[in-house]
Amino acid sequence: MLTVDLGAVARNTRALADRAGTAALMAVVKADGFGLGAPDVARTALAHGATRLGVTSLQEALDLRTAGIGAPLLSWLNAVDADWDAALAADVDVAVPSRDHLAAVAAAARATGRTARLHLHLDTGLARDGAEPPAWADLCRAARRAELRGTVRVVGVMGHLARADEPGDPANAIGRARFARGVSVARAAGLRPRLRHLAATAATLVDPASRHTMVRVGAGLAGIDPSGTTTLADPVTLTAPVVSVRRVPAGTPVGYGGTWTAARARRLALLPVGYADGLPRLASGTAEVLLRGRRVPIVGRISMDQVVLDLGPAETTGPLATVAPGDVATVIGPAGPTVADWAHWSGLLPHEVLTGLGTRPTRVVRPAPPTPVLRSLP
Ligand SMILES: *Cc1c(COP(=O)(O)O)cnc(C)c1O
Repeated sequence: MLTVDLGAVARNTRALADRAGTAALMAVVKADGFGLGAPDVARTALAHGATRLGVTSLQEALDLRTAGIGAPLLSWLNAVDADWDAALAADVDVAVPSRDHLAAVAAAARATGRTARLHLHLDTGLARDGAEPPAWADLCRAARRAELRGTVRVVGVMGHLARADEPGDPANAIGRARFARGVSVARAAGLRPRLRHLAATAATLVDPASRHTMVRVGAGLAGIDPSGTTTLADPVTLTAPVVSVRRVPAGTPVGYGGTWTAARARRLALLPVGYADGLPRLASGTAEVLLRGRRVPIVGRISMDQVVLDLGPAETTGPLATVAPGDVATVIGPAGPTVADWAHWSGLLPHEVLTGLGTRPTRVVRPAPPTPVLRSLP
């Protein structure tokens, strides 16, 4: 069973909004809200300090609209021939990294009689998405001409930092300077973008100079702090029941490939979770679960849908000696093993662990407590 605690998302949102200071908070809910459920994370974040939403693809944006979410919403990465008509009809802001994108969005706006809201995207140091710096001034001037024709309005300028999780790295100052220059160039072209956004979670936490008028925070809402400087709340708990317990003699190999062999007679327990449920197979040999208040190692390879626990020597006494079918193990949880533990065991990012959680475990969503309402005195 996978429990998503939206109270943790609410606390993380408030902590990050507080850190953002006067900058607005955009809740980034791409990849189904980092695997937590995009509509749930979006609604929770909006109720606790976020004022806007961001996603990667237009499809993700349209899915949020279908879920009934009407908040300001930006989609930043789409092919030139994306369905811009649908973006306009759904009132979705779009990021524009090139003249070709600008022309395609403006054409859709002209054809439908709407004005597209754009965020011009500048590459500030990843050589990934966003306009290359030499193409920026030309993009800004073309966007201004489109503004004067009434097809678009440039409401934002965005960049992204490659190494915000390494605050001392000179790449951050270079990225900030490129962004500041990009904003000046946009202004010189006659644009007046109110939303100037560069920082994601790490920079929001550790790099005040990068916050500008808005920050885009995704990982932090899900409890991940790439800067390693704060403790955020973990929203996910994955539990599994013990299906069976067996006693095996010395020399018994466990799992595919027999990568672990009982050196002495052991008691083993079977849990019906595996890599299809999101447990990285790379953690085979190091991962543990929590059972009866004890850390218990997973032995042998993690299979697609099962893992074997070593409860200890066959003659063990103590809490693990009486483990029986029906006992429930915590495979991932705020009290451990955490998402960060699993990431460490498998050599993955916590982002990969979270977004890899399968759709197979039954999901239970615990709502956030209601926002406190300030009552006026009688
Ligand atoms: C994912 C993403 C974010 C959010 O980053 P986090 O580190 O998860 O807060 C912000 N901006 C862009 C362009 C992204 O791709």
